[in-house]
Amino acid sequence: MKRFFIITLATLSLTLPAQEKCGTQEYIKYLEKTNTEYNIAREKVNFETRNWIKENSHQIKKSIITIPVIVHVLWETSTHNISDAQIQSQIDVLNEDYRRNNIDQINTPNVWNSIAADCEIEFCLAATDPNGQPTTGIERIQTTHGPFGMNSDIHTSSAGGADDWPNDDYLNIWVCDIQSGLLGYASGASNWISNGDGLVIGYKYFGTTGVVQPPYHKGRTATHEIGHWLNLEHVWGDANCGDDQVNDTPTQEEENYGCPSMPHNANSCGSTNINGDMFMNYMDYTNDACMNLFTEGQKIRMISTIVQYRSNMLNHNLCNPPTEIIEQNSQNKKLIKIIDVLGRESSPLDINKTLFYIYNDRSVEKKIIFK
Ligand code: ZN
Ligand code: CA
Repeated sequence: MKRFFIITLATLSLTLPAQEKCGTQEYIKYLEKTNTEYNIAREKVNFETRNWIKENSHQIKKSIITIPVIVHVLWETSTHNISDAQIQSQIDVLNEDYRRNNIDQINTPNVWNSIAADCEIEFCLAATDPNGQPTTGIERIQTTHGPFGMNSDIHTSSAGGADDWPNDDYLNIWVCDIQSGLLGYASGASNWISNGDGLVIGYKYFGTTGVVQPPYHKGRTATHEIGHWLNLEHVWGDANCGDDQVNDTPTQEEENYGCPSMPHNANSCGSTNINGDMFMNYMDYTNDACMNLFTEGQKIRMISTIVQYRSNMLNHNLCNPPTEIIEQNSQNKKLIKIIDVLGRESSPLDINKTLFYIYNDRSVEKKIIFK
């Protein structure tokens, strides 16, 4: 009996990772184990969210929320050190998917067209860092850590990761060589988590260009994980015909892979899913090219999460470069380079122009030389 049990486990551990895709559910279990208050905090968040939606869903004003992003690139080989263009391509996908400007929206089945949402959420690479200095919103850190699993190493610089920027102000995204079988994972919205809040995504599944790898080459891993970060659950509710706490997503038996055709698994959860699974929802596990919508119900859950738990995202100036540079005087600092407001390398001889002098102690001086 004992022997049989061991064999079964060994088989499971070989077959599960290949199907895993998103590690958020497993990461939540890890957090439950390492933080005793986590369960209580999560229940509180879900309770408050239900109440907020009940009271506010009829009076949501149209207004765009812009989320400033810091991308931490952890690299061991040059392949991991993805290009600025690959990073920008991911920001572009997010801005399409969360505004329903994705060109593949035409693939949304007619029965769900009327509930497909413009979530009115946009994203920028942060232009001001936590010290009020200009930034590209991209931080590149060389590491010798090896593939990252689901633990605190990724957001701990002394463990070979990169420390997070204040997570009330920024969406932290760590791009790295991730453990095999996993595309990415996220921390859910809560008001207790102090660091490591954000997403972790494998370098091969981030953006649409560079070293991306089909079938996860259209940036939908980040679209999906940000859904979790804004408190969405998988459409199958992580249980057989489970509840994702969203009314307009049909109940479905389990996750879908690849790219099914419509209708898929109609009535598999009784009459609650008469049209079958909404396998093209960003919160399923289908291929990137097969996904194309969030619903209105998912949108309001995400908006309620921002308003209640990520409210610094509602009003900030972090998508614009700083207008005032904090001067820091250090005796030994060395000038690294001079750039203009667009980040182009410039010469101190450029007169009548705002220039930023960047020093090796990370300080920046803003100078304008008038003639
Ligand atoms: Zn997921
Ligand atoms: Ca549902």
